[in-house]
Amino acid sequence: VSGGEEPEERVIEAALRPKNLHDFVGQHRVRKQLALVLEASRIRGRSADHVLLSGPPGLGKTTLSMIIAAEMNVPLRISSGPAIQHAGDLAAILSSLSEGEVLFLDEIHRMSRPAEEMLYMAMEDFRVDIVVGKGAGATAIPLELPPFTLVGATTRAGLLPGPLRDRFGFTGHLEFYSVEELELVLRRSAGLLDLKVTSAGFAEIAGRSRGTPRIANRLLRRVRDWALVHAVEQIDARAASAALDMYEVDQRGLDRLDRSVLDALITKFNGGPVGLSTLAIAVGEEPETVETVAEPFLVREGLLGRTPRGRIALAPAWTHLGYAVPAGVFG
Ligand code: ADP
Repeated sequence: VSGGEEPEERVIEAALRPKNLHDFVGQHRVRKQLALVLEASRIRGRSADHVLLSGPPGLGKTTLSMIIAAEMNVPLRISSGPAIQHAGDLAAILSSLSEGEVLFLDEIHRMSRPAEEMLYMAMEDFRVDIVVGKGAGATAIPLELPPFTLVGATTRAGLLPGPLRDRFGFTGHLEFYSVEELELVLRRSAGLLDLKVTSAGFAEIAGRSRGTPRIANRLLRRVRDWALVHAVEQIDARAASAALDMYEVDQRGLDRLDRSVLDALITKFNGGPVGLSTLAIAVGEEPETVETVAEPFLVREGLLGRTPRGRIALAPAWTHLGYAVPAGVFG
């Protein structure tokens, strides 16, 4: 989910993608497990097990699927749950796959029900039933598929129905990156973009990147613009900080959505608890966006709590937004 970026930005984003597991920063556990899955399938001479990758946007799910295909030396097909509305859409994709191909399905939890059911059989038996005709005259024509590897991505594994989750041989959960890991991502990107940045400059950008490589790279490009306009040759902490203040990325890396969620919680619901859908309406977003894009980071930062009765703003959230912490607030 790149969200409203210019085409040029997408080109740069693609150029910054690591091409192999070695260049992929962080996520040590997932990387090691995945390397093992790929090695085993190479030894067996078969296509790799289906892989499910879960985690918030921008942590490297698409990048990993590209790396899997590259490491297996097979082609990659990219599609997404929302693009597959009918079982026929999926049948068309599946039946055109070549032997061993990796099929990446982003936002796999948003596929339609009939397509999902077709996918079960395809994943398990490499076969689909194409239904021809309607009503009593309908017949199912079985179609054999070449073996392929499905890489599914979802912002939350819990959003997937059990039977679909169970059909993946390997599930990797991507975690937010540490500031040190983001510095590595930024160093690599700065090298590719031919930018001079001091260590303190990298630290400043990494600290505001919400634990997310995509955001780190995006902020680096904004800082690059700023440096160009201000004729700054070398980006230090002060330059980075001045640039990012201008783009409304605060010291903790919270963006506008993060802040509006916390601000609504505090000013409209007195700090909560309030239900997810009510909170989402208050900030004018889909509940899924609030839950999978904003909340994971706010929870990790100890700013927002999820309770059985709803979402609450924790004490550091009040302080961060400049409000006095009322008595009885946790955190
Ligand atoms: P997702 O599919 O999870 O939304 P992407 O795979 O599209 O995320 O990653 C977004 C961008 O972040 C990519 O363009 C890539 O350059 C960068 N990126 C993601 N993960 C890493 C990583 N581990 N190391 C270096 N760069 C990364």
